[in-house]
Amino acid sequence: MTTQRTDIIIGLEVHTQLTTQSKLFCGCSTRYQDSEPNTHTCPICLGLPGSLPVVNEMAIVYAERVAKALNCSVQQTQFYRKNYFYPDLPKGFQISQYDFPLGTNGYLTVDTAGQERTIRIRRAHLEEDPGKLTYRGTIEKAQYSLIDYNRSGVPLLEVVTEPDLRTPKEARRFLNKLRNILEYLNVFDGNLEGSLRVDANISIAGGQRAEVKNISSYKGVEKALLFEITRQRNLLRKGIYITQETRHFDEARGITISLRSKEKEHDYRYFPEPDLAPVDPEPLAEQFREHTEVELPDAKRHRFIEQYDISDYLAKVLTASKPLADYFEAVAAQVDPSAAASWVVDVLQGELNYYGRTLDAISPDLLIDFITNVIQRTITKKAAVEGIRTVLVRSDENISLRVDEKAVLEIIDKAGLRIAPAEETITAVKQAIEENPQAVEDYHSGKTGALNFLVGRVMKKTRGRADPTLTNRLIREQL
Ligand code: ZN
Ligand code: MN
Repeated sequence: MTTQRTDIIIGLEVHTQLTTQSKLFCGCSTRYQDSEPNTHTCPICLGLPGSLPVVNEMAIVYAERVAKALNCSVQQTQFYRKNYFYPDLPKGFQISQYDFPLGTNGYLTVDTAGQERTIRIRRAHLEEDPGKLTYRGTIEKAQYSLIDYNRSGVPLLEVVTEPDLRTPKEARRFLNKLRNILEYLNVFDGNLEGSLRVDANISIAGGQRAEVKNISSYKGVEKALLFEITRQRNLLRKGIYITQETRHFDEARGITISLRSKEKEHDYRYFPEPDLAPVDPEPLAEQFREHTEVELPDAKRHRFIEQYDISDYLAKVLTASKPLADYFEAVAAQVDPSAAASWVVDVLQGELNYYGRTLDAISPDLLIDFITNVIQRTITKKAAVEGIRTVLVRSDENISLRVDEKAVLEIIDKAGLRIAPAEETITAVKQAIEENPQAVEDYHSGKTGALNFLVGRVMKKTRGRADPTLTNRLIREQL
């Protein structure tokens, strides 16, 4: 592992909700996002006295998949009680894993500034999600807070890194890669609100670390870390010693606020959960293994380079999300793969970003039609881009657009984007030459720019539809 020269040390604790059907210790559904508060609850996830937890085996299977993908060793695991009182956990403890976490000693490689760095993963363990507290106003000034237990008991996988990250950007890259892997494994939905929450530990040489709790977005992690670096540097410069504490990230204001001096691990009084037997993940996971052979992002990237003969850069972009990789493969099955890659990465991605659309706004079939038309020289590349924009605007207006081969040509014709017929270009060239004797003279006396001027006139006459190669050739012939 190469180390960058910096005095910043960052470690992450990432909580991700696993997309099992039911919660970790009861049968309540995990699809609570559109439900009224406190409607997905039962005595177990409300922590009522006398209720007994039963392990959801699918959560173990999912966690095992992630642990393996993060290069962890998987071991027999034991649930523990992590004791603390907070209203989001009415039974007074969270069922988590402490000694014997499901996965240990893994790693993930992250690309920063063209350099591949290895980020070690200390552990990956399962625990139950607490309920959700909503503060009225800001966390410091709220008079009261509201509690929703729909989320309580949803399986969380916590991934803890070693303090190997060196910059906020690297932290963001790590999170993107982690999310990508979880989505490839089909155990996580990053679009669900609250599906990912990060605690970020950061220290600068000479001070103790601050833990910024419960950051709920990737960008938020980077922002919170940047804020902490400035804050801690300023304190150090003034000679103030930084003590260990827990801070809260206020997303709206982009700042972190001190919550409390950091509790120590022994404060939680961890002890083995007496209501749950130890679990061995491997035999459970084995039962589902053949259905879950998954190609992970790095493997897919290497295959793309080999199979499609595209650059490492394009392969990296295309495999950065599974839907994008699938989309590319659908296009590359029909048109030249290197053309497909550059259309998807250089054109489509930019247009989708600009219009705030996702891949489902334009089908692979439609993109294939556009590309094919360009290759067959029915339309120019510029026209194809215009056509793609038209589709994105239309789907934005929610006009349902059932796309067939005719649709592309229809869009192109309506927008007047089809390449002008040869006769039209010939006429325009003749007119341009007749109307601009000065340019003709300039051309003959070898002035650069005269040819481009005439091409420009032809483009104007054909409203940009003339084929540039043909126009150039015709003008040279006529002069
Ligand atoms: Zn329940
Ligand atoms: Mn945790």
